[in-house]
Amino acid sequence: MSTLFLSDLHLDANRPATTQAFEALMAGEARHAEAVYLLGDLFEAYLGDDDDDELPARVATATAAVRASGVPVFFQRGNRDFLVGPDYAARAGWTLLPDPAVIELQGEPTLLLHGDLLCLDDTGYQALRRQLRDPAWQTGFLAQPLPARRAFAAKARAASAAAQSGRDESIGDASPAEVRRLMDLYGVRWMIHGHTHRPALHRVPLARGEGLRIVLGDWYTQASVLRVDHDGLRLEHAA
Ligand code: MN
Repeated sequence: MSTLFLSDLHLDANRPATTQAFEALMAGEARHAEAVYLLGDLFEAYLGDDDDDELPARVATATAAVRASGVPVFFQRGNRDFLVGPDYAARAGWTLLPDPAVIELQGEPTLLLHGDLLCLDDTGYQALRRQLRDPAWQTGFLAQPLPARRAFAAKARAASAAAQSGRDESIGDASPAEVRRLMDLYGVRWMIHGHTHRPALHRVPLARGEGLRIVLGDWYTQASVLRVDHDGLRLEHAA
């Protein structure tokens, strides 16, 4: 049985085929997986657990059925869906993971991150991240009525689209020094993350030998899935 890792699906009502591809994976292969890990930016935007839109309801239905079939589903918040809270996680059958989190994968301690924490060169983003992760800011935002939050998200998206054509292509890459620092700090040889939309397997020189950093791809134009089982790991992209 494989363990599945996905990130950066950026599910959005404007790209229904991506949502259908995710639902198909959850209705099929995921039901027979060892576990499913969703490493953030599952949603293009997330406005709060009280959002009654169709998309979050569909996603919760899809993953709750995976959980109900006996397969654990883990979720790590990304920079797009950092407002996912315990209510939605319960509905969706998710176990929330901190970022970063260490898991045991085929006997190998493995560090999981969304990945934005690694992009230290983007100081503007890191400052924004500190603001958006501030509990006081989040409480204030979630206290606004849904229409106001939707308007805020639409404005933020328009600004982001103007700056980067709606994609995350302009996001910086992971800092190699930060990758090594965190792998040493947590005592792992394997790291898995998304966020940068640069799917690849990287060798990482560590004091304790060679490490491996696996970067998941996005789902804008492909369906990037990492499968890990006792035979090894496969990072694959279905068109
Ligand atoms: Mn991201």
